[in-house]
Amino acid sequence: MPEAHPDSAQIIQDNRDYTLFSWSVQQATNPIHMVGGKGSHFFDGDGNAWLDFSSQLININVGHQHPKVLQAIKDQVDQMCFAGPSFATDVRAKLGKKLAEVTGLAKSFFTLGGSEANENAMKMARLYTGRDKIITRYRSYHGATMGSMTASGDPRRWPVEPGVPGIVRVFDPYMYRPPMGGSAEDWADGCITHIEEVIQMEGPHTIAAMLVEGITGSNGIIIPPDDYYPRLRALLDKYGILLIDDEVMSGFGRTGKWLATQHYGIKPDIVTCAKGLTSGYMPLGAVIVSDKIAEFFEDHMLWGGLTYSGHPVSLAAAIANLQVYEDENIFEHVNELGEHLGKRLEAMKRKYACVGDVRYIGLFSVLELVKDKKTKEPLAPFNGSSPEMAKLAAHLKSKHVYAFLRFNWAFVCPPLVITKEELDAGLDAYEEGLALVDEMMGK
Ligand code: PLP
Repeated sequence: MPEAHPDSAQIIQDNRDYTLFSWSVQQATNPIHMVGGKGSHFFDGDGNAWLDFSSQLININVGHQHPKVLQAIKDQVDQMCFAGPSFATDVRAKLGKKLAEVTGLAKSFFTLGGSEANENAMKMARLYTGRDKIITRYRSYHGATMGSMTASGDPRRWPVEPGVPGIVRVFDPYMYRPPMGGSAEDWADGCITHIEEVIQMEGPHTIAAMLVEGITGSNGIIIPPDDYYPRLRALLDKYGILLIDDEVMSGFGRTGKWLATQHYGIKPDIVTCAKGLTSGYMPLGAVIVSDKIAEFFEDHMLWGGLTYSGHPVSLAAAIANLQVYEDENIFEHVNELGEHLGKRLEAMKRKYACVGDVRYIGLFSVLELVKDKKTKEPLAPFNGSSPEMAKLAAHLKSKHVYAFLRFNWAFVCPPLVITKEELDAGLDAYEEGLALVDEMMGK
C-alpha cells in the first residue's frame, strides 16, 4: 500500500491555480493527486490504491508501470533521446515493420497522438483521391484538433462548429436505438443503404474517405452487425472512397485483436492509432497506409510533418509495448476474460431494472442505463447527467474504483492485464451501485 503524500493538498491546489484541465469548467475540477501505480491499480496522494476500471483514458493497456516498457524507455533515453523526423533510426525501422506486419498495411507516418493521426489521415486521403469530403458518423469521437474535432459526431465538436469544411455525417449501427424509431431488424439493413443514399446525394466524386472508429468507444461501445464492415467495404470500393479506420481506442488488444475491424475480415485503406500503441507510456500516434497509398506518395509530395514525428523514445516504448502483448499472450487473456466479463454483464442486465443494454467485446464494454427497460428512456439525457448517475459515480468513487461514466453509460474498460479477481472485485462494486440506482428509482 502506498504512503500518503505530505503535500498532496497543496499539489492539487497548485495544479488548479496554475494549469488548465481539459474538457472542464475549471472551477468544477476535482482532480485526484496521482502518485504512482502498478498493474491495474494507481495510487493517490492520500495513500489509497484505486482499481483503474478505465485504463486511464482507455489507453494504459499493459497496466501501470510495466517494467519492460519502462526499461525500453530508459535504454532509448541513454542511447539517443531525439532524432529529427527526416533521419533514419533503428526504432523507426523496427516499429514501421511491425505495424505493417500486424495490420497488413504498408507504411506508417508517426504523430504524437490520435487527433493528429486523424488529421493526417484525412489530409492524405484528400491528397490521394483529389476529392474533398469526408464522411463520418454521429456518435463518434476522432480528437480535439480542429479537423478531427469537426469530424467527430458527438457534442465535443459543437463549440468549434462550423469547423473545417467538407464533413458529412451519417448514422451509426446503434442497434439498441435505431434512428427514427425504426426496428433493429430494419436498421441492420438500413445502416448501410442509408450511407449509399447519402453518397448519392453528396456526389460520390466529391468524397475522399469515410472515417469510422473500428468499434465506437466513448460514444457507447457500438458494436456493428457482423455484415456491417464487409458491406461497408464493398460500398466504398464501388465509389472509390477510402476507408479510414480509427483504431485509437479499439485497437491494440482492447477487443482481443490488433484491430477491431480484424473481427470482421476486412482491410481498411488507412488505420489510425495511438493510445494502446504505447499503452500511454509515451505520446505516439500513427497513420498506417495501404500499398496503393504508399505507392502514390512515392512520386507525390506528402504535404505535412511534425517536429516530433518518429520521436525515438516514443517508438522504443511502442516496440516494447507490442512485444509485451505478444510475450505475455495478452490478447488470449483478453479473449478469455472478455467471455467472463460478458457473462457477468448479461447477468446484471437480467438482475437490475436500470440496465437496459450491455455491449462488450474483449475488455471493451459498457452498461447502458435506463429509467425503464420497455421505453428505454435513458437514465441521463444525451449530453447530460442525472442524480442516479451521480449516485453510481459516488458509490464507485467511495470504493476507489476509477470508472468512466458518460451520459447514461457506465463503461468497463480495465487494463488488459487485469486478473479475474480484480475484474470481479470491480464488477461487484458496479453491482452495489446499480442496486442503489434501482432503489432510488423505487424498483
Ligand atoms: N480517436 C478516438 C477513437 C479516440 O477515442 C480518441 C481519444 O480518446 C482520439 C481519436 C484522439 O486521440 P488523442 O487524444 O490521442 O489525440
